Amino acid sequence: MKTRAFFLILTAALLCMQGSAQTLLPRPEAASIDPAHKVTVNSRKTVFKNIPKNQRVSLTTCLADLPAPNGGRRLTLQLMNPVSQDSGCDRQAYALTADKNGVRITAQAVQGLFYGLQTLRQLTDSLGQVPYANITDRPRFDYRGLMLDCSRHFWTKEFILKQIDAMAAVKLNRLHLHLTDAAGWRIEIKRYPQLTQRGAWRTESDWDKWWVFGKREYTEPGQGYGGFYTQQDLRDIVAYAAQRHITVIPEVEMPGHSEEVCFALPEVSCTGQPYGSGDLCVGKERTFQVLQDILDEVMDIFPSEYIHIGGDEASRKAWETCPDCQRRMREEHLSTTAELQSYLTERIERYLNAHGRQLLGWDEILEGKLAPNATVMSWRGTEGGLKAVHMGHKVVMTPGSYCYLDSYQDAPMTQPKAFGGYNPLEHVYSYDPVPDSLKGSPAEKLFLGVQGNVWTEMIPTPEQYEFMIYPRILALAEIGWSKEKSAYADFRLRAMAVNDGLRAKGYHAFDLHQEVGRREESRQPIQHLAVGAKVRYIGPYHEAYMASGDNALVDGMRGNWQFSDGKWQGFISRNRFDVVIDLGEVKPVSEVSAHFMQFAGPEIFSPASVAVSVSADDADYQMLYEQNFEVDASKPYFIQPYGWKGSTQARYIRFKATSGQYGGWLFTDEVVVR
Ligand SMILES: [Zn+2]
Repeated sequence: MKTRAFFLILTAALLCMQGSAQTLLPRPEAASIDPAHKVTVNSRKTVFKNIPKNQRVSLTTCLADLPAPNGGRRLTLQLMNPVSQDSGCDRQAYALTADKNGVRITAQAVQGLFYGLQTLRQLTDSLGQVPYANITDRPRFDYRGLMLDCSRHFWTKEFILKQIDAMAAVKLNRLHLHLTDAAGWRIEIKRYPQLTQRGAWRTESDWDKWWVFGKREYTEPGQGYGGFYTQQDLRDIVAYAAQRHITVIPEVEMPGHSEEVCFALPEVSCTGQPYGSGDLCVGKERTFQVLQDILDEVMDIFPSEYIHIGGDEASRKAWETCPDCQRRMREEHLSTTAELQSYLTERIERYLNAHGRQLLGWDEILEGKLAPNATVMSWRGTEGGLKAVHMGHKVVMTPGSYCYLDSYQDAPMTQPKAFGGYNPLEHVYSYDPVPDSLKGSPAEKLFLGVQGNVWTEMIPTPEQYEFMIYPRILALAEIGWSKEKSAYADFRLRAMAVNDGLRAKGYHAFDLHQEVGRREESRQPIQHLAVGAKVRYIGPYHEAYMASGDNALVDGMRGNWQFSDGKWQGFISRNRFDVVIDLGEVKPVSEVSAHFMQFAGPEIFSPASVAVSVSADDADYQMLYEQNFEVDASKPYFIQPYGWKGSTQARYIRFKATSGQYGGWLFTDEVVVR
């Protein structure tokens, strides 16, 4: 009995020390929770103090999800006199106490009360019992976002509303919708019905069939694959999100990624012909007229301060020979096509600013000259964001290696096909948007926050979409909200609880209980005859994938699932993979083998042939093994051993591997000699 009592106290103490109950995600700023004492709360006995009637709707929506057991104590929601509301973060702060008298949540703004209720929801069990608690909480960043790509594949309004519910529960507050791209224009524009009539359906749903190997053609409404949101659909989404304190940010791509616009309205392309360039013509005035007309309707639907104009990956190729673009460059004294893009960005920014809105764009808008008030979304690594901050601009950090949730989240061969990359929950959680060097500096305020992006080229179904979003978005929800991160093991437990809850509610989240995690072979160093041996490269490794350099193949370390993890070495030279390993003296040898990776997305293929030969003097070589293999590009991912087993004597071992009809890279992590 004594032991058991001691255990309970210890558990309670641990929870207090961690500052969070196991269920709270994101982790609050300060919390003491006493699970040994509980109060039963009846959500029907809610008292609103100092809250105008017309501001209660988001709170009553949330209360409907809380238990209302018979009896039970009251829940008090109270707005305090605003002391300071300098930042969005102040409006989102709240305090929560739970004791024998019931639960009381106070905040300076309704949004704070709403987040207090989300915390209460996580603390409450199915009987309406809440542990005694004392919590004060406030977000680290004002901006905590999720981007859904509605162009590459189209998602119903109901699907989007469902994701808004999940976002609100973990205190995410920005939903960025990628509404236009080559793959389909998804927003009804009354002034230009051609955009959806001609640009919202394509011949194939499958990305490889349509884009990679296909003709990239559009088709009639209702045929092929496609769809779009009516303006009423989007107003419904905006209103539903607003009730949950989520701002919907629309993205209308310009001037690149606009094949569908050039098809639907050829007069805005450089050639005036459909199926030409994917870039809008920046020379023609007509382009600006169309863009402004579109933005008028977009601003009417979306009250968001930020309007995202894309700005990424314009090829700028057609501009080099287009007479209109060239004339514009002369007239505006622009020397490069990058500056021509900046001309468009600045002009669109002036238009948005004149209507009380702010321009948000991908980090390519930094090229040329950055529009004076623009906010930058940094996706190609973190450099763009840091550069923008140094120039005094605000940034939202979304670097691909941490924040792209369309890459693999677990051992790739256990997962549906993804674009590439390996970004498991643990890696997402390890991200910190603010570099140490800027912490505490005035520049830190320019980091608005963080966002998860989930592109959908490889994601055709709503089930697969949810599988990619959850649980990884939970990591970004906590990074965006919590000033102090917990140990990953603690976070993973809490994420598991929230994720299980989502699955129970019908979200098709990836089951964290099934996570394979790190590649088994990469967990422990291996011992073999060649460890530390000298390696001569007849076919050099590529400097971008050199791993630890000349000893990478004999360092006893195997790689994880990702080819860029610093253990895998990459080969693209004409000879591909061709190395000689010097064991120092003639030794008995019974095995020479290496694992090769195939990762079809980034064009890494298995070898088309492997040859192993040995020598005592590095002059006369005896061929031990020579074999051709069929390269199957349809297999998205696997890692497979190749090599020889037998019995011989050797000092020098030559291992050669070639690539097949698809060309591409060879990747290996260790040549094992036994
Ligand atoms: Zn042009």
